[in-house]
Amino acid sequence: MRHYVGGGFDASGVPFPLVDPVTGRTVGEVPAASRELVDRAVGAAREALRGPWAGWSPAERSRALHRIADGIEGRFEEFVAAECADTGKPRALAATVDIPRAVANFRAYADLLAGRSERSWHTGTPDGRGALNYTVRKPLGVVAVVSPWNLPLLLLTWKVAPALAMGNTVVAKPSELTPSTACLLAEVIAGAELPADVFQLVHGQGADAAGQWLTEHPGVDAVAFTGESRTGSAIMRAAADRLAPVSFELGGKNAGLVFADADLERAVEGTLRSAFTHSGQVCLCTERVYVERPVFEEFAGALAAGAKDLAGYGPMISAAHRDKVLGHLDRAAADGEVLAGGGVPSFGDARDGGFWVEPTVLTGLPEDHPAVREEIFGPVVHLAPFDTEEEALALANAGPYGLAATVWTGDVSRAHRVAPALDVGIAWVNTWNLRDLRTPFGGVKASGIGREGGDHSLDFFSEPMNVCVKL
Ligand code: NAD
Repeated sequence: MRHYVGGGFDASGVPFPLVDPVTGRTVGEVPAASRELVDRAVGAAREALRGPWAGWSPAERSRALHRIADGIEGRFEEFVAAECADTGKPRALAATVDIPRAVANFRAYADLLAGRSERSWHTGTPDGRGALNYTVRKPLGVVAVVSPWNLPLLLLTWKVAPALAMGNTVVAKPSELTPSTACLLAEVIAGAELPADVFQLVHGQGADAAGQWLTEHPGVDAVAFTGESRTGSAIMRAAADRLAPVSFELGGKNAGLVFADADLERAVEGTLRSAFTHSGQVCLCTERVYVERPVFEEFAGALAAGAKDLAGYGPMISAAHRDKVLGHLDRAAADGEVLAGGGVPSFGDARDGGFWVEPTVLTGLPEDHPAVREEIFGPVVHLAPFDTEEEALALANAGPYGLAATVWTGDVSRAHRVAPALDVGIAWVNTWNLRDLRTPFGGVKASGIGREGGDHSLDFFSEPMNVCVKL
């Protein structure tokens, strides 16, 4: 486990333990970057802005991103193993989602960049000769990328790729809980023939540590962050004094709406996926489902049966996170009804030392209950009935978050009426987590600031400048 600073790998700093969430055992150590190392990383990234990188054409940068994608593909199994070891997620998930999406992130931005153009205008002037206006796109400068533990490589590369595409230099700080694939990425970038120092990697915790030192650093021109909403607030305060732009993908408490006219089998199967993928530790996961009353009992019975049958799920990321989820379940069991799960599975092997929670279906809680209002980020979903479309929308739109929602209906008019009326950044109809990387991605309210994806990311990571030439 090493930092990558100034073109060299470096294991300096006080080490902290790396814990396997499957068994709870300490399996390694990660060095925590000192403030001096963070300074050096930002300094090297600033210096690199003045080097040959500044002269690279979009086509050269596009080819470099493809080389990084090739490098990840070339070490695919190593990346999959590292991601599974850090997160405890099933291999199938890492091999079909996390690592292929990291490759796709680099390829998608490489291709978008290669095909991107800027606008120009011919302006009338009184002497009839006119003027030409054209837009020049410049990098922001040094970009800090701070990422969470749930989709470590996917979410890191989702920002690193467009930041490099637009000619920025990057200092990345992955989650302290899942640093391994970021180390492999640094090795891949080191071998991808980019100019020196365009990418730096530092490890460490967030508050009063590498994360904070990086985001409050005067040499950092912009911060791209994915994580908890309250961490977003802290980072915004840190960036406020120097008015650095921020792009934030934050927490959620995503709703599902199941109408009686839906294909119920499909809605149940889709909700099992949306609630329990990666044991609910995906920001887009559904944590509350509102079901039209005539089909409530049938839906609840089928979902609970499906949850009880789920096999091959993974653990919570840490003991602290497991305890937070179980705390919610204790209160929910006292105040409502547990239809499935609610406890800790027993394996009779080393996994009993890990951070496991059963897939859990709850019902009967009031809307102001913490388990219905707060982000749990675990394998927990609450079901409640509704009677009208208006009520369903009001329930879905209540609360502080606005990341994603899913609508299950067989009525095409209802689909187009309800989906745009949801206060979220992403609404799915009769599916979940189907992503085209060119589409806008992000949340409203406490779920984020700005949009990523496609041109939205390329716009965030650059400044458009107008040049006006009198002809
Ligand atoms: P977190 O906010 O605790 O940590 C995220 C990163 O921020 C880590 O690298 C951490 O070290 C760093 N950090 C923590 N405090 C910091 C500070 N004061 N200054 C600078 N950096 C700091 O989040 P997490 O627990 O790693 O991730 C789970 C959260 O992320 C959930 O709320 C989830 O909804 C959210 N998330 C959102 C999206 C999205 O796209 N909207 C995607 C994935 C996860």
